[in-house]
Amino acid sequence: MICPNCSCPTKEEMHFCLNCGAAVSTIAEIECGNHPGAAAVGACVVCGMPVCGDCAVTKEKKIFCSRNIGTHIVFLDRHALLGVSDSEFEADVIVSNLKANGILPLVYSPKEFFDFKSERADSAVRVFVVKDDRAHAITILTELGLEDFIHIETIQRL
Ligand SMILES: [Zn+2]
Ligand SMILES: [Zn+2]
Ligand SMILES: [Zn+2]
Repeated sequence: MICPNCSCPTKEEMHFCLNCGAAVSTIAEIECGNHPGAAAVGACVVCGMPVCGDCAVTKEKKIFCSRNIGTHIVFLDRHALLGVSDSEFEADVIVSNLKANGILPLVYSPKEFFDFKSERADSAVRVFVVKDDRAHAITILTELGLEDFIHIETIQRL
């Protein structure tokens, strides 16, 4: 699927674009992480929390959660999304392999804002690395045969 907002290719099963946070699927109505009952208009590009119109802050066409807007903007300046996984197990394997190679990844999981009711969000675990480590991290995952995990936009931006 191609995001209508930023033209980034997005995995079919995702409800929100990983690059800009816009809602790309209308199949399931997802609720705001702060306001149960309010429909999410997008998801934070850093933590992935679904946000309603009141809780979404847009900066340079990217959606952030109002809760952590300051820290998230600084974070996204320095870090790149390496990829997302629906499987916590796979995410753990990726994180340990990166650490074994001297890269310290940062992980955002839907557990942080929901009591792991994953049907309320894209259940994907997001793995970020410092931008300078991006090329090295991609090499490591490719050697491990985990290239499906890598967010396509991350490769294109190299
Ligand atoms: Zn997008
Ligand atoms: Zn956020
Ligand atoms: Zn809200």
